[in-house]
Amino acid sequence: MPEPIQIQDQLFTPFISSLQIAERVKELAITISQDYAGKKPLFIAILNGAFIFAADLFRNLSIEAEISFIKLASYQGTVSSGSVVTAIGLEDAVSGRHIILIEDIIDTGKTLHEFLPLLQRQQPDSIKIVTLLHKPAALQHPVQADYSGFEIPNKFVVGYGMDYNGLGRNHPEILQLQSDTHL
Ligand code: 5GP
Ligand code: MG
Repeated sequence: MPEPIQIQDQLFTPFISSLQIAERVKELAITISQDYAGKKPLFIAILNGAFIFAADLFRNLSIEAEISFIKLASYQGTVSSGSVVTAIGLEDAVSGRHIILIEDIIDTGKTLHEFLPLLQRQQPDSIKIVTLLHKPAALQHPVQADYSGFEIPNKFVVGYGMDYNGLGRNHPEILQLQSDTHL
């Protein structure tokens, strides 16, 4: 058994190695480069969690492409639908562009389900989603990634950009919450 790693009050165990991540990210970049040759896509990375994945994916692309970064903020609306999402930093012209959203992880799908209509309103030519991880067992909204790195069980993960209470983003590998490991 590998040594557990403590982050604040929780123990985490190694789950996906940096080598596995690097190989998969390279494969995703090759596929996307083939699919988007000549289309000059605009990647939009969703901060904070996706920043390391976005950097690695982007530097492995072999095509002309642009990248931009946004942060999604939700606030409680006065309407009964609950939280409403806004995108901070969405300044680049999206209209007429081929957009590829970069996410670290699709969990319930709520984030993208709320953000996609907002983006669609700006009339891009197309929108696709690339996510490093997705948890099919946690999905509650009709959101599907077009490109996905790894399908993982419904357990909390950190590292490679993803945090636990703001910490753990700098771990080069992906770790899994230990108390979730033997459920
Ligand atoms: P969703 O809206 O799909 O439920 O969740 C999306 C966001 O929640 C992800 O982009 C990520 O920032 C965060 N998230 C979901 N699951 C995890 C997880 O296991 N670990 C971490 N660190 N963040 C998660
Ligand atoms: Mg995220």
